[in-house]
Amino acid sequence: MAEHCENSGKPVFDKPKIELHVHLDGAFRIETILDVAKRRKITLPVEDKMRNLCTVAEPSSLKEFLGKFNHYMHVIAGDREAIKRIAYEFVETKAKEGVIYVEARYSPHLLANSGVVPIPWNQTKGDITPDEVVNLVTQGFSEGEKAFKTKVRSILCCMRHEPSWSMDVIELCKKYRNDGVVGIDLAGDESLNCESKPDHKKAFEEAVKSDVHRTVHAGEVGPPSVVKEAVDVLKAERIGHGYHTIEDEALYKKLLKDNMHFEMCPVSSKLTGACDPDFTKHPLIRFKQDKANYSLNTDDPMIFNSTLNSDYQVAQKYMGFTEEDFKRLNINAAKSCFLPTKEKEELLYQLYKAYDMVNDTSF
Ligand code: ZN
Repeated sequence: MAEHCENSGKPVFDKPKIELHVHLDGAFRIETILDVAKRRKITLPVEDKMRNLCTVAEPSSLKEFLGKFNHYMHVIAGDREAIKRIAYEFVETKAKEGVIYVEARYSPHLLANSGVVPIPWNQTKGDITPDEVVNLVTQGFSEGEKAFKTKVRSILCCMRHEPSWSMDVIELCKKYRNDGVVGIDLAGDESLNCESKPDHKKAFEEAVKSDVHRTVHAGEVGPPSVVKEAVDVLKAERIGHGYHTIEDEALYKKLLKDNMHFEMCPVSSKLTGACDPDFTKHPLIRFKQDKANYSLNTDDPMIFNSTLNSDYQVAQKYMGFTEEDFKRLNINAAKSCFLPTKEKEELLYQLYKAYDMVNDTSF
């Protein structure tokens, strides 16, 4: 088994955790994909082959990683029962990992089949709109939350290569803000900047105006200028990944000073080729030394064949993370989450209690 997914044995941090950066559509169960395919009479390779097709075992490129979605998205997208089921099962998985609060993100358009837009894996036109996708995921999450006691909220993703979806996405964020949608994200190819795609900028301006929280994938494989644009133009409150920020010392220092939150995904960063595969040279070590504000996250656990514990193991084994570091980063995650103030305070209190820190003011 690859060194990043030593999933067996005791969790390295066996206390309540927060996760802020995980893609619902990169977190399905292979068994569920196979099961749904059977019901929908979709022919798929056998389980072992399917597992190989859907996962990345060795460091590769972001392009190869994105190609993985083509092998399974067509099974789930456009099927009401399947969409609700993967949302429900997601909560069960996170509860088993000891996550007490998770913000899951997805593109409503990529799970729809209403033919509003052409999607590579969905050529058959159906009647499930992005709006209904959000409705179904929300139902699955809320049933999962009741059953497994892990609180879950959604972030809706705009895609860099599809600016025409972005205004829909912000409208859906507004429509479902009282039903579990807490923020907007921009994901995809970082070489597509927002100057050439003004719709993203428009959607994020609307988010600021309507108090919808904002996070942006930036500085994952792209240069620090993408991070700068995320902060200055899109008014991001959190940065997805952001590893390459440290290549611009002035920007990095400014974001440290502003207490910007970075959603770090070490296992992902190795397997997508975003960072040096040698974890002992990972930018996260610098963020840790500087006591930056960051969280640890899985990103796409099905594709990386990982769990949240894999990321914690990597941090402990190769980056010198201690129990104190894990507590600190989870507290930072809770402080930087997109819940309303009162719920955020309750979440923080839950952590302080579980970490035996109710009277500790040093954090
Ligand atoms: Zn991501």
